[in-house]
Amino acid sequence: MKPLFGEPEKLEIITYLQEDGFITEYGKTKEFEIEIAKFTGSKHCIVVNNGTVSLTLAALALGIGPGDEVIVPNYTMIATPNSIKILGAAPIFVDVEKDTLIAEIEHIKKVITKKTKAIMLVSANGRSPAAGIREFEKLSSETGIPIIEDAAQSLGSYYPDGRHIGRSGEVGSFSFSTSKIISTGQGGALITDDDNLAHKIRRLKDFGRMTGGIDVHDTIGYNFKFTELQACVGLAQMRQLAYRINRKKEICSLYQKQLADIPSIKLFQHNLSICTPWFIDTLADSRDHLMAHLLEEGIGTRKMYPPINRQRCYGTPGNFEVTEAVGKYGLWLPSMIQISDDEIERICLAIRSFYSGIGDPAVG
Ligand SMILES: *Cc1c(COP(=O)(O)O)cnc(C)c1O
Repeated sequence: MKPLFGEPEKLEIITYLQEDGFITEYGKTKEFEIEIAKFTGSKHCIVVNNGTVSLTLAALALGIGPGDEVIVPNYTMIATPNSIKILGAAPIFVDVEKDTLIAEIEHIKKVITKKTKAIMLVSANGRSPAAGIREFEKLSSETGIPIIEDAAQSLGSYYPDGRHIGRSGEVGSFSFSTSKIISTGQGGALITDDDNLAHKIRRLKDFGRMTGGIDVHDTIGYNFKFTELQACVGLAQMRQLAYRINRKKEICSLYQKQLADIPSIKLFQHNLSICTPWFIDTLADSRDHLMAHLLEEGIGTRKMYPPINRQRCYGTPGNFEVTEAVGKYGLWLPSMIQISDDEIERICLAIRSFYSGIGDPAVG
């Protein structure tokens, strides 16, 4: 990934600065929240300083605390479990569906206990669960366990029923860090249709007070606020969102076409009518050698997330077949919006030449 900020972002910031604003969150932030609420079709949107804090706030607003358990996929960015670890809650890892890398619902059912206070549903790369989102909603309503949607990677992606991802759970969370579909440098957003939750989250992010400048505090709160400069960048990015989404889909189609006949590299499949692939994610044979070969050609790639349970900071036992396979073969190909068609062609040719070399006994 590479950052993509341009003239519209600069212009928006300069115009704002000429108005002598406070820079701390105010009108521009409100506008940005309204744009996200409109785009996702949700009643409320609250922006915060990143997509990890947003998950922590969602969990706090749902009353999660020390000793509670939260079910988390073993394949995700480490922010997902860390966001509740900070509250003294324990992430319980489950393996993921092999085609979507989203938590496998049958595994979730097996680890539910009296201590389970939430399920973190991570829509990996903008995909929706193969089991069907209705199955998750059914489980949630039968057990009373709320779902927090970590939709950090999923702006511009929808469930098959047409709802934007992030709108199925009690609350949905997005990230605007530099690699994501749009960016404000750092930034996160929560969406919900629940007035009470929205109200709680607004207070939690602003010292527990009802209104800025009036120091009455009925509840505990912190400072997880945004800034107007970030909102300026975000508003400019939202105006380009349709282009960004479209280009992500084109990039995915180009890779799909050009790599389809190479059995040694398997691309995860996306329904491009509803999904905006964030990264081009693949399972690649001899992954580490392929990475080295591509690097020699000046092509950067990145290993996909390894199993979180094996990270030293967690080190919890368990058998996670799909996550293990991703840890071994998972590879992200260059996926930045500004990549050219020619560059994609060159990357695909380099991958082809690597695998035909492996097949050649002279190369070994
Ligand atoms: C990026 C990401 C986050 C963290 O967002 P930040 O804004 O970097 O804190 C959380 N969860 C997932 C799935 C992500 O991809």
